[in-house]
Amino acid sequence: MHDKNLQYFLDIQSHQSELNSLRSFAEEHQVPIIDQLSLDLILQLIRIKKPMNILEIGCAIGYSSMHFASVCPSIHVTTIERNTEMITEAKRNFTNYGFDEQIRLIEGDALQAYEAVNDRQYDMIFIDAAKAQSQKFFELYQDLLTDGGMIITDNVLYHGFVADIDIVRSRNVKQMVKKVKKFNQWLVEQKAFTTNFVNMDDGLAISIKEYSND
Ligand code: SAM
Repeated sequence: MHDKNLQYFLDIQSHQSELNSLRSFAEEHQVPIIDQLSLDLILQLIRIKKPMNILEIGCAIGYSSMHFASVCPSIHVTTIERNTEMITEAKRNFTNYGFDEQIRLIEGDALQAYEAVNDRQYDMIFIDAAKAQSQKFFELYQDLLTDGGMIITDNVLYHGFVADIDIVRSRNVKQMVKKVKKFNQWLVEQKAFTTNFVNMDDGLAISIKEYSND
């Protein structure tokens, strides 16, 4: 959904970088990657909050994880991916763009990867995998998040269907949209987090973990 304001912001910035050439690759090969302005916002949050360790659920070709790592050489990203073609492409990209030291790729289903990533705490978690599972990922990985850390979930508007579910005809899509909607409501109710929803691109939820008293 591109409105005029969004297009205007896209037009006034060049967004031309070596990494961004992968955006055309993704479009050509129909790989879903994060929208440009959502990425810009997350990169700005990374500059502000300076996370040392980032966990990403849903790597695809490594586009967002390389962008995160590119903010500062001391950032370490752990990213999880289950699709073998994506894994091959991501590995190639990490090597070609010089991110082998900064990014570790966990191959497998993120619902079963907890043991592979729980060797550290994360200051930021980015949830960008199967949209019907976002709440499961959140519940599974939230205890690996440091106090004051943030969990960012992409696609919480799901193509505009979440706010307008009656226009959805397909039963499967409707099921998925219902899950995203339920997740958003659940997020609001989490006492340990304060969530901010951003009406940009496909919708971002930025959830900050409260500091515990002990
Ligand atoms: N974050 C990437 C970016 O912006 O460059 C895009 C990720 S793409 C939207 C979602 C990816 O999550 C797909 O490559 C898909 O194979 C992967 N995925 C979906 N469900 C998953 C799961 N349960 N475990 C691991 N990967 C999963």
